[in-house]
Amino acid sequence: MEAKAFRKKLKENILGLDRDFLLSYGDFRGLKSFQARDAYIWLYNRRELNPSKWSSLPISFRKAVSEDFDFSLPTVKKERASSDGTEKLLLELKDGNKIECVYIPQGKRITLCISSQAGCPLNCKFCLTGKGGYFRNLEVAEIISQIIILENKFSLFGKSYNIVVMGMGEPLLNYSNLCKALSIITDCEGLAISRRRITVSTVGIKEILERYLGDERMPLLAISLHSAIQEKRNALIPSKSVLSLIELRNLLQNNSRKGREPVSLEYVVLKDFNDHKEDIEALVKFCKGLKVKVNLIQFNEHPLLNFKAAEEKEMVRIQDILSENRISTTIRKSRGKDINAACGQLLDLERLKLK
Ligand code: SAH
Repeated sequence: MEAKAFRKKLKENILGLDRDFLLSYGDFRGLKSFQARDAYIWLYNRRELNPSKWSSLPISFRKAVSEDFDFSLPTVKKERASSDGTEKLLLELKDGNKIECVYIPQGKRITLCISSQAGCPLNCKFCLTGKGGYFRNLEVAEIISQIIILENKFSLFGKSYNIVVMGMGEPLLNYSNLCKALSIITDCEGLAISRRRITVSTVGIKEILERYLGDERMPLLAISLHSAIQEKRNALIPSKSVLSLIELRNLLQNNSRKGREPVSLEYVVLKDFNDHKEDIEALVKFCKGLKVKVNLIQFNEHPLLNFKAAEEKEMVRIQDILSENRISTTIRKSRGKDINAACGQLLDLERLKLK
């Protein structure tokens, strides 16, 4: 590695550095390539964030690496536990920005929900995160750190769990860092979490979604659809970066032909907004011929949001119509409602009060 390239990375957080970088860094610090690979394994695969414990490596290297990079994790500022077992952590980043991540146990199944941005620029009308504004993209290390922090706190290392990138932010607007983080997360010598256990949720960003679908290394995909009627979808998701329904459908059709895993379509059911007969007919039409599953989501109400949740029996009725049309459909109940940890409620409410 050239000294210049190395100096640029100096003092960066180590959790953002990929295998190639660590291999050349190891070479720069006089390691053999198998030893540099070992450093990568200690760090990510064994989650050992104290380099003095990297016992297979020379002491001089352990000292150098601890001085060259930042090994710290974001600080946990607040923890809130819901009566249903869900726990939300508020993390403070180095520059003072705050993000949230959530631990969601459901019987034996454990899901971790992580953020991709500090705040969110999309401003979806039914989502609280957007109300708090947008600050910046998360660094690779900040994405990976959320998993490490949740693993530590809930003793998850070695257990299997799922990850959903459904916290704050729009992951496809932070695509480069998302891809770098995912390559370390899914690498079998990295965090070694299977891509099939990870779901990235997006509104469908122009140009980027096509790249995502074209890349077989990418994890499972969920699209936040919420309406199959263009004007209504525009009203809910006003961002100009979002694909039109026709463009979205064309991409999904191509994807279905390639025989990949089904894509989930997320549909937050909003009372008297997207739950009418014509809304469900449009949804059925949108799904016909596509390899998709529909996930009906219970809306989490909030005084700052001008929508009401549909009743449960209404959601079951919609599920029945979709099932009659042979569209596989599940209903996702709210989790962590009492601690504002539910979908779209990940927001530093204290900051909002100051606004
Ligand atoms: N920006 C990405 C990921 C973050 S939102 C996306 O839009 O997919 C994760 C999911 O929570 C999305 O499906 C979003 O539409 C949903 N959501 C947002 N606010 C909600 C609310 N108040 N109640 C229920 N679901 C909500």
